[in-house]
Parts: sequence; C-alpha cells; structure tokens
Amino acid sequence: MALSGVEIFKLLPKTNCKKCGHPTCLAFAMKLAQRQVSLDLCPDVSEEAKQKLGEASAPPIRPVSIGSGDRLIKMGEETVLFRHEKKFINPCAFAVEIKDTQSHEEIESITQEVIDSEIERVGQRLRIDAIFVSNASGDGAKLQEAVNIVLKKAPQVPLIIHTEDPTSAEGAAKIAKDNRPLLFGANEANAEAMAKVAKDLKIPLGVNAKGLEALSALTDKIKSLGVEDMVIDSGARTAKEILADNTCIRRAAIKKGIKALGYPIITFAQRSDAMLETMIASLGVAKYSSIVVLSSVQKWKSLVLFTLRQNIYTDPQVPMQVEQKIYKVGEPGQDAPLMITTNFSLTYFIVTGEIENSKVPARLAVMDSEGLSVLTAWAAGKFTASKIAAFIQESGIENEISNKELIIPGYVAILSGAIEDKLPGWKITVGPREANAIPTFLKTR
Ligand code: SF4
Repeated sequence: MALSGVEIFKLLPKTNCKKCGHPTCLAFAMKLAQRQVSLDLCPDVSEEAKQKLGEASAPPIRPVSIGSGDRLIKMGEETVLFRHEKKFINPCAFAVEIKDTQSHEEIESITQEVIDSEIERVGQRLRIDAIFVSNASGDGAKLQEAVNIVLKKAPQVPLIIHTEDPTSAEGAAKIAKDNRPLLFGANEANAEAMAKVAKDLKIPLGVNAKGLEALSALTDKIKSLGVEDMVIDSGARTAKEILADNTCIRRAAIKKGIKALGYPIITFAQRSDAMLETMIASLGVAKYSSIVVLSSVQKWKSLVLFTLRQNIYTDPQVPMQVEQKIYKVGEPGQDAPLMITTNFSLTYFIVTGEIENSKVPARLAVMDSEGLSVLTAWAAGKFTASKIAAFIQESGIENEISNKELIIPGYVAILSGAIEDKLPGWKITVGPREANAIPTFLKTR
C-alpha cells in the first residue's frame, strides 16, 4: 500500500539537513508520497527505512521492458486510473501476430509490413511496435524457424514468443535473448519450467490464467520462483471481459496496492472482422492494456489506433505545442509569402504539410497561443490583432523580407483591418479557412 507523506516522514532522519534539495524532511516526504522525487536524494536514510520506503515508493504497476535500443518497449509504471489525474506514462504497444504455420514468404512479408508501418504524426514517430510469434504448429523446430526468419529480416523489432511448451520456449527464446523478448505462455501447468527458462535467460515472462484470482495466485507463485518481470493475461477475450478485467486489475494494483496484479497487461484483439478487431484494440488502448496483439497490419487500422494511442498518452493538462518562431518551409526568398498561425502542434504540422504540398517556399509565423488552435485561441483572446502585431514586430521579420504582406487564416478574417491598423505599412491578406486549400491559394497568387 502507498504510504502517506506523514508515514514517510516518520521513517526519514528528521534532521532537516537539506542535502536532498528540500528545506525539510517533511517537504521531501510530501514529494515522495506524490512520487515526484526519488528516495536516493536523501543520503542519510537508514537501510531499514530504505527497504520499507523502497517497497512503498515502487510504482504500483511494475516497470517491464522488452526489446532494446531505439525500439525498446517500456511498459507499466502507471500510477493513476484516469488520465486527467496525471499523464499516462508508457504508451500501449501494438504487436502483430505471425504464426509458425505460415510460409517463409508470408512471415517475411508481415515482418516487412511491420517495418513499413512507421508514420510521423504531429512530430512523433508511430508504428507497430512488436511481432508476436505464436507456436500454432506445436512444433518447437517450426517456432525456432519462424523466430529466425523474423530476426533475420528485422533484428531490431521486439519479439513476443508464444508457446506453452517449456522446451520449445527455451529453444526459441535463446535465439532472440539478446533482444530481450517477452516469453508468453506460462500457466498453472507449466509455471515452474517456464519460470526457469525466463529466469535463466533473464527475460520477462507472459503469464496466463483464467480469472483474476487464479492470475494473482500464479504471479505470486512465479515471483517466488525468482521471476520479477511479468506481463499478465486474465484470459479476457470479449470486449466486456477485457473492460471488466483490465479495470479491476488497474484498480486492484493502484487503489488496493495488490502487488500480485501490479503488472502490465497483454490483450488479444485478433478477429476475422477487421472493424471489430480495431474496436477491441481501441478498448485495450483506452483501458489499460500495455500490449495489444493484432492479426494483421492494415494502414487504416494503424492510423485509427496510432491516433487514439497518441491522444490517450498525451498530457491532457498540457496542450501539444511547438515553439513560437518564424519557420521556413522550403528555401523562401525575400519575396516569399509569409503566413501566420497558432502554435497548437496539430495546426502547425497540418499547415506546414500543406505549404510543402504547394511546392511554394514560404515562411510560417507560428505564434504562441498556449497550444490552442486558431479559432479557440481567437475566442480565448490569445490570437488577437494586438498580439499578432506585437509578435510580428518583435520577430524582426520585416528586415528579412522585401514585401510586407502577412497572410492570416481565413477563420480570423475579421482581424484583418485591426491588424493593418496596428502594423502600419503592412498589407494583410486573408488566406484560406481550411489548411487543405493552402496549396491552391499559394499556387494561384
Ligand atoms: Fe531530511 Fe534526508 Fe532531506 Fe536531509 S536529505 S532534509 S535528512 S530528507
């Protein structure tokens, strides 16, 4: 169970020495209780207190990672039930299933689709994160062959190896162990042997049991066998079961401090109906899954899921925004058009993308509107004629351009006269309302 600030304070040295960077032990204790600082900052804490506080300050959902390097997948570490309380930390990963019964060519082709799934959206690289190789054949040699094909084509992509046979598990996981795969398939019947494989290879173990009671008993058992890093599956497969189990698991871990359920969750969304699969996967993204397994890579499906994941895992209290400045798109000369917009990330990336599409080099003045889009910023008084005029004057842009013309978004056409009054010598032109009209607008000027 999490300790309160006062309970933590009782375990600290109470000397108020300030070595931790806080004025008093109580102030430090309060920050510890909110998980905003690490206990390491206090050099004088006793071993006994360290042990007690270490357990209490550990995240209620254990951090577990798979893969390595740039594509490392971090899971767990969440501390809240709802994203308006605090930002969710580690975004849910998407894995695509490959069955070892598929042909060499099919396995290579799906692996290539995973590599090609990467897109950029609002400045972030988004992709299918992992490959889930399942031992559908029941043959250990076939599983190893499939793992080898994937590794040869995409050694950097994290792997989840699925088998319930400990001998097959050991053979396949050994091949991939340098890339820290997740070995999935431990259950009540094979727990000892699977735990031994995971422990010997120092890799995380995926644990499956039907229902939360059986699952927590199993994770306790596997922990006692020396495996700390686990990913859990309660056997939920329908939308109703996934919603109920995932919510109960997150509540149990965070509100009740039940360590046996404090692990990242894996959800299986595979369906023959792609629309239904996308809806089940979306439920997993919204409700606490750390890994969602899909049956295939399809661009439309990826776009839906990537966008949802990006929305869920951004900080709702901090709008996504870009730096206020004058951006160059292409290599604008002195007479290139100068446009202005707000610094909401989505607005910036969409407008920049459309200027690029026009093939007309231009400058884009991006004004700080605290991350609000054009109309919202205007309504909130953050994108006004005075503020626009002040920004343009302070930017010094008039020394870099030969014709003082500023193109404003069509949605704030109403501001054109007022901006002209406040920016003497400038011509204010009303641009398109929607960004997708920018290419035609710029090309026909
Ligand atoms: Fe208290 Fe430790 Fe901070 Fe010193 S370093 S003020 S003893 S918490």
